[in-house]
Amino acid sequence: MNRGTLLIHNGHETDPATGALGVPIIQTSTFDQGDLSHPQEFDYARSGNPTRKALEEMIAVLEQGAKGYAFGSGIAAVSSVLGIFSSGDHVIAAEDIYGGSWRILNTFYKRWGLEVTPIDATDPDTIRKALKPNTKAVFLETPSNPLLKIIDLAACLGIAREAGILSIVDNTFMTPYLQRPLALGADIVVHSATKFIGGHSDVISGLVVTRTEALGQRVYAVQNGFGAVPGPWDVWLVIRGIKTLKVRLETQQASAQRLAVWLLTHKNVTEVFYPGLEGHPGNQINQAQASGAGAVLSFKTKTTEQALRFLGRVELAAAAVSLGGVETIASYPVKMSHAAMPATERARLGITDTLIRISVGLEDVEDLIADFDQALT
Ligand SMILES: *Cc1c(COP(=O)(O)O)cnc(C)c1O
Repeated sequence: MNRGTLLIHNGHETDPATGALGVPIIQTSTFDQGDLSHPQEFDYARSGNPTRKALEEMIAVLEQGAKGYAFGSGIAAVSSVLGIFSSGDHVIAAEDIYGGSWRILNTFYKRWGLEVTPIDATDPDTIRKALKPNTKAVFLETPSNPLLKIIDLAACLGIAREAGILSIVDNTFMTPYLQRPLALGADIVVHSATKFIGGHSDVISGLVVTRTEALGQRVYAVQNGFGAVPGPWDVWLVIRGIKTLKVRLETQQASAQRLAVWLLTHKNVTEVFYPGLEGHPGNQINQAQASGAGAVLSFKTKTTEQALRFLGRVELAAAAVSLGGVETIASYPVKMSHAAMPATERARLGITDTLIRISVGLEDVEDLIADFDQALT
């Protein structure tokens, strides 16, 4: 089946018990284990819940992996995956992974003895150069945030495989509808389902998919042990989001492309970062590894004042963190996602106080363009 069909027909389109066209919300903490003569599938809801199991099986199908796991947030998913490593292990991480992933690696996990080396993964060779005898994994994300840099997944994942280390890819910006890292050679995919998968800015959730059953068992041990699991209501919202992922993302992506091309022509805009633009350095690589450029873009204004004025005046975009919802969101990285980063480091990465990131929503793009124009001019 093609990807759009799989979003609807993935093994959970009808409830076998009732015929309902939806997954029931099973709101329970524990399960009657009968006369204990044989083990039951469910015993306690941290260890497993039927609503959660449906989502876990769906995301495994969509990412073409062996096992899926759901978490209480994207960061819970990332932290739980990192929990499969041990003190003294070394992890190589792209320097522009999501800020929260960076923080958990460089604070909590560092304290627990995980070594981390940041790299610029737009040059895959940096992985080879960072390898050590105790290297266990490389952690990647493409497109990156907030500058939408593209990493060559096949090249990076090939180097990881050759070196005998695991590869983890955060696929939040693309979703399995546009990009499938496991098919390109990754071992583990993580998601913030809070973003495009949930899609309505109404739930915090995370997902993990593993290439093999054995890796799945390692992630499951942390899911059950750490216990960062989502409740069934939140899981149900994510399941509902999955059903409309195709129509949302295709519309948002088409609008992002139009908006990016239009922004390039604006007199107060100096640079536009969107992988769908022909002039974007990762345009060709992205086309080879993903079936679209997604619906997040960023741009720089001429002056800081223009950026701040845009955020104050824009009416159809909330000035907020997060992305992937039905409503357009304008983020200001220096004051939001990257506020904690030292200014010198931000400058080195090109995260200036003229930079604005846009997650394009489902509004009519003509209205967005008119609104952006009045806010920018
Ligand atoms: C938001 C986000 C996360 C963290 O997810 P939460 O659901 O906020 O915990 C991780 N990775 C990326 C790329 C994100 O955008």
